[in-house]
Amino acid sequence: MKKPHCTLEQRRKWIENNREKVREYDRRWQEENKEKKREYGREYAKKYKKRINAMAVVHRSVKSGRLKKPIHCSRCGDAGYIHAHHPDYDKPREVVWFCTSCHKKEHLGISLVEEGK
Ligand SMILES: [Zn+2]
Ligand SMILES: [Zn+2]
Repeated sequence: MKKPHCTLEQRRKWIENNREKVREYDRRWQEENKEKKREYGREYAKKYKKRINAMAVVHRSVKSGRLKKPIHCSRCGDAGYIHAHHPDYDKPREVVWFCTSCHKKEHLGISLVEEGK
């Protein structure tokens, strides 16, 4: 028995012969992805709201003195503008204080090797 070769021509023919199947598959893919996209949008909105809320909580807590904003980055010790970073937006009072660059790195998922000591 000969092995079937999967050439471009054969592929094209297969698609031609299975046009309905392909279309059905395509339609389903579109539908599933629409649903996924919508879900993603919902998730994003939820996360966004939580983030806004968490930031507001920090702002209020710092203003009232319940939360102390340090003047140095907790990771690299840099002074400058310190950002409140939330590892978990569900815990708005749990913050880590980062400088701009450490904050950026944290969000990009770059883990830094602890230097020195
Ligand atoms: Zn830093
Ligand atoms: Zn952050």
